Amino acid sequence: MPGTLEERRRELLRSLPSVSRLLAVPEIASFEPQLGHAYVAAVVQQATDAARNALLGATDWPGLAHASAASTPEALVHWVTGRLASAAAPSLRRVVNATGIVLHTNLGRSPLAQAAIDAVERIAAGYSNLEFDLGSGQRGSRYEHVASLLCELTGAEAAMAVNNNAAAVLLALSSLAAGKEAVVSRGQLVEIGGSFRIPDIMAQSGVRLVEVGTTNKTHLRDYEAAIGPETALLLHVHTSNFRIIGFSETVPLKELVQLGRRHNLPVMTDLGSGFLLDLRQHHITDEPTVQQTVAAGAEVVTFSGDKLLGGPQAGIIVGTRATIERLARHPLNRAVRIDKMTLAALEATLRLYRNPDLARSEIPTLRMLTLAPEDLRRRAADLAQRLRQAVGQIPPDPAARADAESEPGWAPEAPVLSVEVRPGTSQVGGGALPAQDLPTQLVVLSPRNTSAVALENWLRNWHVPVIARVQDDQVLLDVRTLLPGDDAVIAEALQALARKAYDGPAPEADN
Ligand SMILES: *Cc1c(COP(=O)(O)O)cnc(C)c1O
Repeated sequence: MPGTLEERRRELLRSLPSVSRLLAVPEIASFEPQLGHAYVAAVVQQATDAARNALLGATDWPGLAHASAASTPEALVHWVTGRLASAAAPSLRRVVNATGIVLHTNLGRSPLAQAAIDAVERIAAGYSNLEFDLGSGQRGSRYEHVASLLCELTGAEAAMAVNNNAAAVLLALSSLAAGKEAVVSRGQLVEIGGSFRIPDIMAQSGVRLVEVGTTNKTHLRDYEAAIGPETALLLHVHTSNFRIIGFSETVPLKELVQLGRRHNLPVMTDLGSGFLLDLRQHHITDEPTVQQTVAAGAEVVTFSGDKLLGGPQAGIIVGTRATIERLARHPLNRAVRIDKMTLAALEATLRLYRNPDLARSEIPTLRMLTLAPEDLRRRAADLAQRLRQAVGQIPPDPAARADAESEPGWAPEAPVLSVEVRPGTSQVGGGALPAQDLPTQLVVLSPRNTSAVALENWLRNWHVPVIARVQDDQVLLDVRTLLPGDDAVIAEALQALARKAYDGPAPEADN
């Protein structure tokens, strides 16, 4: 019966399913409403072309067998639905942050408060008074929606907001010192990550950098000696992501401001994070607030909207009226301007700060940073219990547990991993409060038949990816950064893993 290779090849080519037959398969057709007929047909065409080329290209029996296995209707449907499913899924997706890093830049920094989410939805869906003065019916300013709130909260005379803090720094430097010199301490020439370096941004803005002092010590006389006819600005950068401890000295902002006044020079402070609340009672002591910085007399203060402030990505600029007006008029401002969805979220977030208790409870970043030890313990205990049930260590209710224990072969160590709780440390992240210790509770997963790396990989590839830390062949889940609903996602992922270990074939972690 087995004829020549050519005969078999012709037979396989003849039985290759047609494009129209594949398009009629319900699993494939179901993608048409979302992706459109043309897109789905093109993917099917691509699959059949590839299968045909593989059959045509096979030069021996094993090669032909291989090509034939990939050209069955089942194999083609599987390949096509895989491609269509990934085309139908968004690339930017929600993940579970179990790292304990509150401001995780790679995971999107601050989650928004519900009030901010609602505001974005309202404004994004329709028209708004973005640049329209409803009182006069004339053109208005987009900054008005946050400016008076920012002044009220920070004590500044005037305020505006741009795309992000890097843009705020660039705009301020370009407006105040382009073509001239700015004096900055060597100890404050920071790199923030993502290649934001103060010296680079100064070069970009056309400002000549005059470095004074040494890495660990800068005195007021160092600044004074550097001031000359070309000096336009004294720059103060908050070293937000590192601390120099030990033999070090910096010039307090107040003294720098006095020096600037004597020489008729403005002082600009890049604060990095925008801390608006005094959280000393929650043991967060290491960060100057915006209010303190404004009160010290800086002409311009810039900070991020999505770091400690807990709002959307934005660069906030507060300062004297004359300076803010100068920045707002600069042509670069148009290129870095803030959009309406960001403004909506920023205004709603700032409004919460009028009531500090509400801000602390409603803004996720602040809530996570100020979680009480007993809350962390309770949440870790709840999560551990839930995960033990998910992997089969404890049947969900006592009756079921009694049944399970009476089963022959039941053993408490049967689960694929063990779950325990132990204390650990969370990080603030986002280049803020580097020296601040945040004691936390970790749910620790110790896999039995696989490595911690494989377990981390499984969690990361779950349909809602779970991002966790690996340490000493254990997977660590920090409950501090878990949001409502995240416990259920982790339990679901581990339950699927346990089922796979007990029953064989994996339920697919669909990416
Ligand atoms: C984070 C940070 C920036 C950059 O802010 P983005 O909002 O990320 O653009 C600039 N300066 C300092 C000191 C920072 O900490």
